[in-house]
Amino acid sequence: MGKLYFRYAAMNAGKSTALLQAAHNYEERGMRVALFTAAHDDRAGSGLIGSRLGLQRSVATFGPATQFERAALEPGVACVLIDEAQFLTPTQVRQLHRMAHVGGVPVLCFGLRSDFRGDGFPGAIALLTLADDLEEMKTICACARKASMNMRLDGNGRRVREGEQVVIGGNERYRAVCPSCFYAADDDGPARAPGLFG
Ligand SMILES: [Zn+2]
Repeated sequence: MGKLYFRYAAMNAGKSTALLQAAHNYEERGMRVALFTAAHDDRAGSGLIGSRLGLQRSVATFGPATQFERAALEPGVACVLIDEAQFLTPTQVRQLHRMAHVGGVPVLCFGLRSDFRGDGFPGAIALLTLADDLEEMKTICACARKASMNMRLDGNGRRVREGEQVVIGGNERYRAVCPSCFYAADDDGPARAPGLFG
């Protein structure tokens, strides 16, 4: 029987690397996997999962209209792996939970938990509600505490606190920070502890 897994973290915690490694582990044993990442133009098609260590792989993409069903998978798929899972809709998370338990296919989701404002992504909230197995992937703030939140910076390295949850194609950068640094930077000045994740 399959389970729905959610591996969540702040930015740059190595989620894509872990996903590609998990896919490799299945394939090394002669098992087929189905990989997906979020489409950034809302259309399903093909996309790339790239890790910061240089691994890269072409995979299918999902958009808000994608239906996750056991019958839609190629025959013999032993596991479904999804990157950028914070962009799943709650309905899709429900489909994946069903696929795991009724279809018997384990589903591993990797994604962010909260956005730059500290609010949960809808897909992450649904996964935190339904996933059978939760694991936080650790990464470190520049102050050496555990980073669990994300700060958005503009092109000049200044903190951005308002705006859309997702910006495509802008000059924004993100930095994984601990809650203490997340709130300490509320003075609107240059974000504290620059450099390590810049
Ligand atoms: Zn910190």
